[in-house]
Parts: sequence; C-alpha cells; structure tokens
Amino acid sequence: MDDDFRCDDCGSSKFETIVHYGSYISACATCRQGPTTSFMAVAPALTGIYRATLIDDDWRHLEQIYEGQGVGFVEAVRIAAQSGSRVLIRPIADGDRRHD
Ligand SMILES: [Zn+2]
Repeated sequence: MDDDFRCDDCGSSKFETIVHYGSYISACATCRQGPTTSFMAVAPALTGIYRATLIDDDWRHLEQIYEGQGVGFVEAVRIAAQSGSRVLIRPIADGDRRHD
C-alpha cells in the first residue's frame, strides 16, 4: 500500500481498506470512491500489524474481530468477509516501514 496514493475525485491521501466477500476495496476516506481488487491478491503485501473491524453499510463500527498480523489476520478477515460482513482494515503501527 502506497502512502502517496491520492484520490482522483477529491485529492485526499487518506484511504480506508475494506474487505467484502472476496473483494478488497481501497476507498477514499473522504468521498469513499476507490478501486477494488481481490483480497487474496493483496493479502501477502499486508505485512504490518492490522486491526480488523466489522462495519455496517454506513461504515459504523460494529465489532473488532482481530488485531495482529500474518496468517491469523488474513484468515480472520477472509472468513468474516466470506460470510458477507464488511471488514474495515486499519494499520496499527503507522511508522515508516521500509525494507529496502
Ligand atoms: Zn476522494
């Protein structure tokens, strides 16, 4: 996930990530537009520590389902999203994570 990613519609650089069924949606936090891809395609790139929260159609937080990283995180999100829940993903540690 790139930090210099900007919304085409409003220019915001703040994005939220949602998984719904098999779709991985990176949506602008301001106007909620955004591209969709497959969660399993991007899961290997999610190497940080994340918090997964169930949300409703209006993006209200319902329940936190997982906090952590790696396979456990991906599985928790995948299972929740497969059952039709919307899962909001937020990174917990927000520093400059570089591995170059
Ligand atoms: Zn926007």
